[in-house]
Amino acid sequence: MPPERSTRLLSRRRWLPVLAFVCFSFSSALLLGTPDHPQISVFSALANYSLPVTQHNGQDYVGLLELLDPLGNVTVSVDRSHWKLRYNTTDLEFTADKTRVKIGGSDFDLPASFVLENNRGMIPLSAIPSLLPRILGGPVTFHAAGRRLFIGNAGIHFTAQIASNNPPKLVMNFSSSVNPSVHQEAGKLRLLFEHEPIAEPGSSVLTFGNPTIPSASYQEENGMAEISITGASPLFASFSNENRTLTISTTPQPQTASTTPPNPAPVATSRHFFAVVDASHGGNERGAALNDQIAEKDVTLAFARRLRQELEARGLSTLVIRDGDMSLTLDQRASMVNALHPAIYICVHAASEGSGVRLYTALLPAAAESHGLFVDWNTAQAPFVANSRITESNIAIQLQKNQIPARSLQAALRPLNNVTTVAVALEITPQQNDIHNLLSPAYQQAVMSSVADGIAAAKSTLEGAR
Ligand SMILES: [Zn+2]
Repeated sequence: MPPERSTRLLSRRRWLPVLAFVCFSFSSALLLGTPDHPQISVFSALANYSLPVTQHNGQDYVGLLELLDPLGNVTVSVDRSHWKLRYNTTDLEFTADKTRVKIGGSDFDLPASFVLENNRGMIPLSAIPSLLPRILGGPVTFHAAGRRLFIGNAGIHFTAQIASNNPPKLVMNFSSSVNPSVHQEAGKLRLLFEHEPIAEPGSSVLTFGNPTIPSASYQEENGMAEISITGASPLFASFSNENRTLTISTTPQPQTASTTPPNPAPVATSRHFFAVVDASHGGNERGAALNDQIAEKDVTLAFARRLRQELEARGLSTLVIRDGDMSLTLDQRASMVNALHPAIYICVHAASEGSGVRLYTALLPAAAESHGLFVDWNTAQAPFVANSRITESNIAIQLQKNQIPARSLQAALRPLNNVTTVAVALEITPQQNDIHNLLSPAYQQAVMSSVADGIAAAKSTLEGAR
């Protein structure tokens, strides 16, 4: 979230505990194991390699000789400010600090000046898509944000599908052997591909319709690609089929030398839920310390379970995300919700100060800002925000009817922005500043039966929107 949006949020209302939580979640965006030096990775039929990237005049540059050397016959000669390069049978002439280049007999302009440093000629990365095809005589694909350059048809494609629901098993098939580094984390298995030309899948988020292995995401950064698979329980990877098949399951599998790929079975339909209730925080992430003894994560779980009970009593089937004490990232929560396709998502927070319930719906980025691969992810809520606000006001009305103060607000609060259904966050605070209210079954019941009434009142809106 850009800082200006945080400021807007702060000026609206005191919201510090949740704000800290929202900002914290953004630090996990960087790829695991990314080296601190910038680099570009090049993938071709002849070689895969990485080269250092340096900055000149605020732009990224790479040495042209190093870039071309593994691909063909390259010779270079330097004549004062003129740098001449021959690649196979093509002659090029660059001039220090100039954009004009001679290629064969014709002129070509770089998007930024050529840099000559210690007789080393460097071109801006932004010149790659237009300049390189003229030198190589064939197409290239450059993923500028992730600094990954594909020459010709280089690229390893993959498929991912659930092969069995019990126990859940995800099978990934790659078009060539791969050797990623595998990192197991709470709720996530990360595959980092440093030297393999993994091709960008059609969508940066893949969903599998399985609550245990709900989704995977794909991202590229600093020349590397990462596939990150979310799991409601710990996930284990095993390779087979000469490292072309990766099987991910919730139980450790023996490594096999099998040469036949597993035969994926059709995906079974999972049970359908009307509502998904998210008990925010959990595991190592305790949320706000409401007092010395009470952690927010325990309060949110108690309220979430109470809401499930109230909704089920009204005939609305409900799933609680994190029905226990475990860590889940915001991306995992949103991926699970989106895979389950409920009519409504309710996210529960708690705070020690205030009175009654603060209700939030998403405050979306004003326009489609560029967030690289995740542009859709950050504005996924957009088509649902109007119905989210209708539902929010239905809930507020029911709370007020029962003498529980309620305020309706908007905030750039994750994961609301990433959810593809009606989404409302509740921040529950005690009455009369008595923190023990939050643990009182009577108060939990009073709040959640009003919330459930509000959701039931919005039922036709919710069902119409599906
Ligand atoms: Zn919270």
